[in-house]
Amino acid sequence: MVSVAVTLGRSAPPAGAAPVSSCDTRLSSDPFTLDAMPGLPAPAPEYGPGASDVDTAPPTTPVQEQIPARYRRMADDEVHERITAAKAALGSAVVVLGHHYQRDEVIAHADVTGDSFLLARRSLERPEAKYVVFCGVHFMAETADLLTRPDQAVVLPNLAAGCSMADMADLDAVEDCWAQLEQALGRPLDVPGEDGLVEVVPVTYMNSSAAIKAFCGEHGGIVCTSSNATAVLEWAFARGRRVLFVPDQHLGRNTAKAMGVPADLMPLWDPRKPMGGNSAQALVDSRVLLWRGWCSVHQRFTTAQIDAARAADPSVEVVVHPECPQAVVDAADRAGSTEFIIRAVEAAPAGASLAIGTEINLVRRLADAHPDKTITCLDPVICPCSTMYRIHPGYLAWVLESLVEREAALAAGAPESELGPVVNRVAVDDAVAAAGRTALERMLSVVP
Ligand code: SF4
Repeated sequence: MVSVAVTLGRSAPPAGAAPVSSCDTRLSSDPFTLDAMPGLPAPAPEYGPGASDVDTAPPTTPVQEQIPARYRRMADDEVHERITAAKAALGSAVVVLGHHYQRDEVIAHADVTGDSFLLARRSLERPEAKYVVFCGVHFMAETADLLTRPDQAVVLPNLAAGCSMADMADLDAVEDCWAQLEQALGRPLDVPGEDGLVEVVPVTYMNSSAAIKAFCGEHGGIVCTSSNATAVLEWAFARGRRVLFVPDQHLGRNTAKAMGVPADLMPLWDPRKPMGGNSAQALVDSRVLLWRGWCSVHQRFTTAQIDAARAADPSVEVVVHPECPQAVVDAADRAGSTEFIIRAVEAAPAGASLAIGTEINLVRRLADAHPDKTITCLDPVICPCSTMYRIHPGYLAWVLESLVEREAALAAGAPESELGPVVNRVAVDDAVAAAGRTALERMLSVVP
């Protein structure tokens, strides 16, 4: 791991902390290379350096073909101007959504910013938009496709922008887990018993593929976000004896612990081991089965960082995301979703000091927006989400200009059938989409 000062972190580190540094300079210097790194077998076996440097991309990970060289060589100013011009040419036919974890150069062009589900829902508020360009990661574009009309095309500027956590729960592994659980518990898992309860309710975090959401939809399960996980678990416990929580063990553990579920009733399911690495009795006794998945960004936070922040400034308030490990959430003053963290910063009085445990681009923007408060990132080594970071502005310029060309051809009378598919469109298979929507609608019925 290379650790060199770069320009990613503008917010000041806590007093006494190590200088701001990044775990790999390639993140800022040449993102295009990471998508087609020579010498590495295809598909790219890693998601790139930084936060996800130990995560392996599954074989199903979409591969981004190399975009024209002119976009890769373009100066930053020209990229900015071309994105602005393309958006102006497309007008209301396009809406650009920017996740909070995107870099400033992308957020500058976003019509709406937010977390994954808020953005997917905001796309519903732009029915006139023929193209929804989602500057986020693959599962977010899939979710937007589930919620938008069939005639709206959801576009992901770089198809290699996946999510290492979402990829830790692939459909094969979850189906295998389900079959093993059925064997261990001795009966179908989603058929109510005499008491009206099913054996297992599958709950998936929003950060999962459409196929996993569909699995939950088909088996009486539901989707949750980091802001509604408690309400969703209450819904699940009212229907079943156990919950299978995928893919983020930390959100599942932190939420269930706060609801009073003891640690020994929350075994970890390791998909690489028979029975997930558990005894049959542990599965029978379980209340929440936690999938062995994690977010590479949030798993970096430690209690030692919290101790250091408090030693440097005894008045500091530590606010972390519930994707952080349990010890970190327990040691923090508060924990909550991305929107919760934003509200916590906004509500803090002038002069307040907050140390935040979440993705650096968001923390840095919060620091810039609140110069009257001291906003720092808990982690002195600045690691942005390396998959989010793959939405380089050059990709945004490329997809938008491709859409401008397409619209020009349509206006000139070219039949749509002759134009080929919309560039980098993310479209979920109809059957998967229907079952995935069922799981999402259940969530919306619990927490509108
Ligand atoms: S921050 Fe974590 S959960 Fe979010 S996209 Fe990146 S790896 Fe996935």
